[in-house]
Amino acid sequence: MGRPVRITGIECHVLLDPDFDTTAASSAQDDFIVEIHTDAGVSGVGETDLNPWIARACIQAPGTHNMGLGLTEMLIGADPFDIEGVWQRLYVGSAMNGRRGAVINAIGAIDIALHDLRGKALGQPCHALMGGAVREEVTPYASLQPEVTSFADYRDSLVEWARRAKSLGFRAVKSEVTLAGPFAHNNLRESWDRSTEIVAAVRSAIGPDTALLVDVQYAFPDADTALGVLREWQEFDLTFVETPLWADDLDGYARLATEQGIPIAAGEWLTTRFEFASLIDHGRIAFAQPDIGRVGGLTEAIRVAQLAQSHGRRVVPHLWKTGISIAAAIQFAAVTPVCDFIEFLPAGLSESALRKSLTGADPAMVDGRIRVPSSPGLGVEINRDAMREFERAALLKTPGH
Ligand SMILES: [Mg+2]
Repeated sequence: MGRPVRITGIECHVLLDPDFDTTAASSAQDDFIVEIHTDAGVSGVGETDLNPWIARACIQAPGTHNMGLGLTEMLIGADPFDIEGVWQRLYVGSAMNGRRGAVINAIGAIDIALHDLRGKALGQPCHALMGGAVREEVTPYASLQPEVTSFADYRDSLVEWARRAKSLGFRAVKSEVTLAGPFAHNNLRESWDRSTEIVAAVRSAIGPDTALLVDVQYAFPDADTALGVLREWQEFDLTFVETPLWADDLDGYARLATEQGIPIAAGEWLTTRFEFASLIDHGRIAFAQPDIGRVGGLTEAIRVAQLAQSHGRRVVPHLWKTGISIAAAIQFAAVTPVCDFIEFLPAGLSESALRKSLTGADPAMVDGRIRVPSSPGLGVEINRDAMREFERAALLKTPGH
């Protein structure tokens, strides 16, 4: 197989879990996969955490003027190895439609696919072509988000799942604690006093030696409320509290960074290093959490990591998709000195059919760590039969079908 010179095709896959529930809090019920094909026959695969119909439109919409070019039109004929050049052309050429938000999320899937493609074409893992690995293993944390309908079941499920995660060997767990705010689901609206009960129960279940992260998912209405609760949580030795305030309340984030002691993490929805610059400078967060697809792909996630490192901050990527995003996160962590953990929801603890079956077996975790793979590209294979099933489910929901 010769070196690919031209991109010849962009294939978009809109996927849906046939049992999806619009009231559930999980974005793992749908998926968007892009495959990029070349003149040498080698292809790459990428994924992003965006409504898949919107993602497809971002990629397939024809251009209408020179600051609103179509992504597919810009990609066809481009050199697939010119990954940074392609990113810049897509970013500038789509600027009046994109620059932030959904178009950047879609570019993220394309960028991941190009990294996969280049690795496969050269027979090397992505990390070897992204500056080289700085570690041989990455440490995953188990992200726990049960779908239950009462406070007692919620607390008890989190405790039980945390214990299971620990028994699987995890060195870190992240407990969702979302009793209020936009992510509160299944009528789990309770007073904040009860959230402290959950954090205490999970900490006591896993003991002092397992790292505990807490995600409250934008639940506090303002910094004063957050400060009152976070001061009660000092005793639980939390690695961080994730997204305590609404994403745009950067003044509030800055207050949490200076007026209490628990490190704050945020950034799962952001696109580009430019949005992270504001969150880091203005919001003063301790942990930046780029979602690798959403932020603009591996290329942009690495720029965010470099920005965080230069400001003395750390990076823990957000991840709520399939084995493709897990593979991308492992490659990212392999080359990122300030990345302590990756988010990793084990298939056995996931409610998502897509997570369970779209790709092959999960990377093996030994003693709480995953070895950085040496297989070409991302090192992940799609289950084509499963993908066809999810595409069929999505087709049934497609308007006009
Ligand atoms: Mg989160």
